[in-house]
Amino acid sequence: MTAILENARVARQMNLPGWSQEHQDRLFRSRVFLAGIGGIGGVVAEYLVMGGVREITLVHEGELCLPDLNRQTLMSFDGIGKSRVHLAANRLRSLVPDCHIEAFDTKVTNDLLPLLSSADIVIDARTNFEERFLLNRLSAVSEKSLIFSAMNGTEGMVAHLRPGRGACLECVFPEGDPEWDPLGFPVLGAISGTVGAMAAILAIRILSGYGSQAEEQMTLFEGMDLSTRNFSLVRHKACPFCQSL
Ligand SMILES: [Zn+2]
Repeated sequence: MTAILENARVARQMNLPGWSQEHQDRLFRSRVFLAGIGGIGGVVAEYLVMGGVREITLVHEGELCLPDLNRQTLMSFDGIGKSRVHLAANRLRSLVPDCHIEAFDTKVTNDLLPLLSSADIVIDARTNFEERFLLNRLSAVSEKSLIFSAMNGTEGMVAHLRPGRGACLECVFPEGDPEWDPLGFPVLGAISGTVGAMAAILAIRILSGYGSQAEEQMTLFEGMDLSTRNFSLVRHKACPFCQSL
């Protein structure tokens, strides 16, 4: 797609007050590392690609199953039993043919550090703290900002972290969440979609430089009264990971 057509595709976005060609060009040049392509991560990927991000590395292990279809907007019924991350990549390529999507059907591992290091930002949309903490560590090593996103039932949360330089994920959740059941927690699909959209907005602000600089903070969202609360995040003196740096 030519530059003229790409600008035409995002023309409504470029009508935002104060949105310049430079903001858009920064998005066009951006590269994102996204772990998790489920109810949250799929929506993140859709809005980033449609907004102009051209390069995304997707990491997610596993095949599509029927209960995924109450929330995973990149998936469809005929994909059941197939690799979710490759289904997602194909759907994104059909949305925006010029985007470059790399897809890895795997958990987050140390081997992914070179790919993560080449990205401008890391987005965590996984459902277990084993992978989340590894993303936190890899983000610190590569000095990347990390967007954390999560949901449970009717609640969601999104955070902007700077592991190694500011607050990290282990500062916020020092013991992970022992109550968390990665494969069984309740999900209202519209909540995961809302959290995904919030994470995408945060990423677009950071990548484009549009608006005020994104603070290191966490936003909690409660779907039952549509309320949000923001908390500033600071590095925790007793954080075992920060102390190890
Ligand atoms: Zn920490």
